Amino acid sequence: MHPVDSPEEAAFRAEARRWLEQNASRRSRPPVAPSAIVAEWKPEEEEARLAEARRWQATKFDAGWAGIAWPTEYGGRGGTIYQQHVFDEEEAAFDVPRDALVVGLGWCGPAILHLGTPEQRRRFLPPMLRGDEMWCQLFSEPGSGSDLASLATKAHRDGADWVLEGEKTWSTFAHHADWGLCIARHGPDRHRGLTAFLVDMNSPGVVVTPIRQMTGAANFNQVYLDGVRVPDRLRLGEIGDGWRVVITTFMYERVAAYLPVRQVVEAARPLVSTSHPSRRARWTRAFITARVLELLRLRQITALHDGVPGPHGSLIKLAGTLLLDQVYDLGLDAFGPAGMVATGGAGEWVDAFLGTPGLRIGGGTDQIQRNIIAERILGLPRDPR
Ligand SMILES: Cc1cc2nc3c(=O)[nH]c(=O)nc-3n(C[C@H](O)[C@H](O)[C@H](O)COP(=O)(O)OP(=O)(O)OC[C@H]3O[C@@H](n4cnc5c(N)ncnc54)[C@H](O)[C@@H]3O)c2cc1C
Repeated sequence: MHPVDSPEEAAFRAEARRWLEQNASRRSRPPVAPSAIVAEWKPEEEEARLAEARRWQATKFDAGWAGIAWPTEYGGRGGTIYQQHVFDEEEAAFDVPRDALVVGLGWCGPAILHLGTPEQRRRFLPPMLRGDEMWCQLFSEPGSGSDLASLATKAHRDGADWVLEGEKTWSTFAHHADWGLCIARHGPDRHRGLTAFLVDMNSPGVVVTPIRQMTGAANFNQVYLDGVRVPDRLRLGEIGDGWRVVITTFMYERVAAYLPVRQVVEAARPLVSTSHPSRRARWTRAFITARVLELLRLRQITALHDGVPGPHGSLIKLAGTLLLDQVYDLGLDAFGPAGMVATGGAGEWVDAFLGTPGLRIGGGTDQIQRNIIAERILGLPRDPR
């Protein structure tokens, strides 16, 4: 994809902008927190924010602007990944919810689209795309995060069903989810012993317990699976294909992890417009990094258009979250002593600052991204295993 629109992209951009102007209000200033995860909603505001996100998603779906690159038979627009990128760029300028439904739309949805049966796609993708059903990802366990293939949740076959037994953790928005994409172990082989399931979160035996974070938010959870029955028709992929589901989901998760970081840099601009030279220098470096990331994003979109996303998502995720960290640090620095308390103008900067370490861990930690970049982009020797 080229940084300058082709005539077709320019026409699409104009059409998208017209629709957005008619259906949403422009932001009065760039957002400090460009994602629901960095914003760290408090429990008392979470319900209303999610309802708002679902309403906006339904508005887009009903007008044909949801899932722009998804096939029309599953409720998408049947367009291209470039068009989705153009729409995302335009939408970022409007005051509408972003990212709250990302676990379904950005992580689980692409896995079902690529690996699901036609019945599974027809059943699950349209309500996911409209925001009618929320999803969670049941991968991590207390003893298995970076080394996910060591996971221990058991799946055993019982007639036409599978029975799941175990404990998942850090499951974002599981307390609101209707469905979960779960990986469980049915055999001893490290990778071939794993299978993926689509789990009804209202099934008997599913217990969800929120985990309180340092900001006061509680948007992830422990999920206990106590003899949960899943019909075999809700297995995603073949028996033993669980690792393929994990890799596919993670690759798309890293595509969805892209945040409009330049907006955050712009949000910091008023805080550094004084004559403080070192802050101005830090801001300028951040501005340049954000522009480079935008160009890398275009490369990623081109790779995605040509097939499944490659390892460059790791580079963008690592550099993007490190950049956010630096900008929030700069913001708090500029507030001086007021940056120590989560009130007044500094409040949203404090919340975002405290939310960023989560972004640097979720979807693969900084160290894991560095290992991927070293091995798969730079061709360095493999990490000892
Ligand atoms: C905001 C957020 C949202 C999340 N949402 C979900 C979700 O919805 N569903 C879900 O299943 N999980 C979710 N997670 C969990 C996330 O995927 C794990 O936290 C992550 O994979 C790291 O695993 P861990 O916490 O067990 O840390 P560990 O894997 O125990 O890592 C501990 C430390 O060791 C380092 N380390 C580990 N292995 C290596 C290695 N080979 N080389 C170098 N360093 C290494 C890590 O980088 C880290 O610093 C979420 C986490 C966060 C923070």
